Amino acid sequence: MNIPFHKPYITEDEINAAADMMRAGWLTAGVTTASFEQDFKRYIGCANAVSVNSATAGMHLCLAAMGLREHDEVLMPAMTFTATAEVVRYFNAWPVLVDIEPDTHLMDVNKIEDKITARTRAIMPVHFAGQPCDMDEILEIARGHGLAVIEDAAHCLPSWYKGRPVGSLGGDACFSFYATKTITTGEGGMVCTDSDERAGRMRTLRLHGIDRDAWQRHNSSRFWQYDVVEAGYKYNTTDIASAIGIEQLKKAEKIGEMRKRIAGRYTAAFDGCAGLLPYRVKPDRVTSWYLYPLDLDLDALSITRDSFIEEMRGRGVGMSVHFIPLYEFTYYKKIGYTGEGLDNCRRVFERTMSLPIFPAMSDDEVDYVIEQVLDLVKKNRR
Ligand SMILES: *Cc1c(COP(=O)(O)O)cnc(C)c1O
Repeated sequence: MNIPFHKPYITEDEINAAADMMRAGWLTAGVTTASFEQDFKRYIGCANAVSVNSATAGMHLCLAAMGLREHDEVLMPAMTFTATAEVVRYFNAWPVLVDIEPDTHLMDVNKIEDKITARTRAIMPVHFAGQPCDMDEILEIARGHGLAVIEDAAHCLPSWYKGRPVGSLGGDACFSFYATKTITTGEGGMVCTDSDERAGRMRTLRLHGIDRDAWQRHNSSRFWQYDVVEAGYKYNTTDIASAIGIEQLKKAEKIGEMRKRIAGRYTAAFDGCAGLLPYRVKPDRVTSWYLYPLDLDLDALSITRDSFIEEMRGRGVGMSVHFIPLYEFTYYKKIGYTGEGLDNCRRVFERTMSLPIFPAMSDDEVDYVIEQVLDLVKKNRR
């Protein structure tokens, strides 16, 4: 068998929606993008949904809208994608890395307050694999110290925390519709915020600092007139992408159920298996299962994580690792980051791997992956 790590879930609905947009001849952001924002806002139950061309762009705009400045500090887990940290560096501000919990890979809320200084301005929790962070604790710490909360919700459609969907939890939350994410528009993103003021600022900044978007211009009598109020960015999405997004959003919960079913089969097979450390989801939350993380108990095995992945690949199973901690990269090393004091993160990075989990995976494919994992564990037990 040959099982890729990921396959996007695209049907004729998305293909027709994109083709219809092209036939209509309105390609960039317009009424369809406004409809996608409305649908998203209604689905999440937030006050504002601002569409952008990536979650990275969304996080950048959130930091701009809260007024991040040079030399400010922003707390985030060490184990995340570089995008979470790079947007802080855009301001010449500093990501401050917080250690993770070993069994959930989420930022450890007990280690946040130690890292707060006079320069700290924001916390960026990352809802790893779709599992929401301890948001009550994070929001309380933020309130106590006057910090902004910007959630990296790139993995979270759909995820719930204490019955409420991520995007409505109190921080400004950034979703990703990148090709591999739970719902996709190829490239794309959405910011959910309850602040009308920050949403307005983001809408202006996402299109060159212009005060009205192209569609409104098209419909006004003095269609050529607009004003530029600051140096903005080119972060708008397209109506082709939004037409795809509208169709994908309708399927979000169905896609979530398909992933959950696969995760359930994996967990049932791996639970209690010597040599494996199962990923834990806390009881008061629902994960999107964007990823299925599985950690190796290296004390019980005579194989490294890298060799395990290589063996799996040799057996036709696409694997990955989420994430290489930030301090492992040349750029972050160069500007002074190390893994010092991030012991759980270092430990998890040596042990973790991600198994294929995509909606269209068949039972036979899931069973094949399970068989290969269990066989490799058995052959390499100490
Ligand atoms: C994918 C991802 C992003 C970036 O999303 P884009 O839409 O590609 O910008 C940010 N953070 C995390 C944790 C991600 O996995």
